[in-house]
Amino acid sequence: MRNNPFGSGGPLVSAIGQGTWRLDEGDRSSAIAALRIGLDSGMTHIDTAEMYGEAEPLVKEALGNRRDEVFLVSKVLPQNASRRGTVAACERSLRRLGTDRLDCYLLHWRGNYPLEETIAAFETLRAGGKILSWGVSNFDKEDLEETASIAGPGRIACNQVLYHLEERAIEHAVIPWCERNGVAVVAYSPFGHGEFPSLRTDKGKVLARIAARHDATPRQVALAFLTHRATIFTIPKAGSPDHARENAAAGNLALSEAEFMEIDKAFPRGPRPRALPMI
Ligand code: NDP
Repeated sequence: MRNNPFGSGGPLVSAIGQGTWRLDEGDRSSAIAALRIGLDSGMTHIDTAEMYGEAEPLVKEALGNRRDEVFLVSKVLPQNASRRGTVAACERSLRRLGTDRLDCYLLHWRGNYPLEETIAAFETLRAGGKILSWGVSNFDKEDLEETASIAGPGRIACNQVLYHLEERAIEHAVIPWCERNGVAVVAYSPFGHGEFPSLRTDKGKVLARIAARHDATPRQVALAFLTHRATIFTIPKAGSPDHARENAAAGNLALSEAEFMEIDKAFPRGPRPRALPMI
């Protein structure tokens, strides 16, 4: 659990949370059990979106009467992110999630509506208590600067971005900007959206070796590496209870500096790309 950098005074947020994209495509009862076991194991940060089909109703069912235990995040699609459209999209998400508020509401990625409109809607929703904080997703440093110049300091709660061992682009400019400006970084697709490194490769063997030392798994090592800095959170998606349990337990794993360096060498950061990678 970490202090809440998503806005002062809020609940604690677990460094390792639960993603829900495509959670509605697998076995429904297994997905609900996974979310519940994730909650029981401390993964109280749940990420969803209007884009994720039936994921919001699934989260509602998994939560039952446990809404207050959760740091609940949803997202507005860019094509809905006009001033009125954002408010309407949020109200739809609240209905589908069976709650009266979101802990954080994000613009899923930057689209054609001026940021001023979306930010004005976020502030309206915040004033009305429908969201407790707001943030962005897939924003590069320049987008963050523009957002901050419109909204003022201390308004952006988080930036949710692609971050896994083989995609470390955000380390160049996004993480430093977020740390300087008190914005939480939420790493999405921490397992590469299902493309986790094969343990038969040399770099996979590095993970396996470190994992064995801690009686942990290579995926737990990856999650520990990604959340090494206190400002970084992550939201792996797990459709099975066993996977949820395994991911949650990564929160107890502390890597040594030497292990951190080993992983850094096996999965180099690479040069800064022209555009921020996203899925
Ligand atoms: P992940 O990188 O989290 O990978 C999910 C895959 O890993 C699934 O196939 C899952 O299998 C498997 N998995 C999870 N835990 C384990 C485990 N312990 N052992 C073995 N396999 C495991 O992919 P996502 O792309 O889903 O990213 C996570 C979340 O980030 C999304 O669900 C969504 O909430 C968010 N996201 C946000 C985006 C944005 O633009 N803002 C874009 C993409 C994602 P199984 O389901 O069978 O457990």
